[in-house]
Amino acid sequence: MRFCRECGLLAPLGSDQVCPRCGAPLPPPVRLRSRRPEPRYLEPEDPPPMTTGQYFLTLVVCGIPVVGLIVLCVWAAGHTILPERCRLARAYLIRRLLTDIVLLLLLWLLRTAWPLLVPTWYYW
Ligand SMILES: [Zn+2]
Repeated sequence: MRFCRECGLLAPLGSDQVCPRCGAPLPPPVRLRSRRPEPRYLEPEDPPPMTTGQYFLTLVVCGIPVVGLIVLCVWAAGHTILPERCRLARAYLIRRLLTDIVLLLLLWLLRTAWPLLVPTWYYW
């Protein structure tokens, strides 16, 4: 907003450096600022990366037969401060599920195909 000092005209926005009515030079534009400072938004802090000891502890817990599986499920569900541990638990559970399926398929295949693979020596 700028007023002409000579004639008092409110200069329209985007007008030049001179008053459109009297031709007098206009004062420099005054920027209105709010009294409140701009709000500052802080980025959430990234959690610290997992240390080697924490990886080791996670892998040790993976090896515990029943309790480890329960703890891994809890971690995989996101109940841990460390997102890396959550991802590691999920990856471990997926790998374990796949290997269990493959092992069960192999056992089933071996069980059904065993009589065909091994000749019976009953008649000999
Ligand atoms: Zn003027």
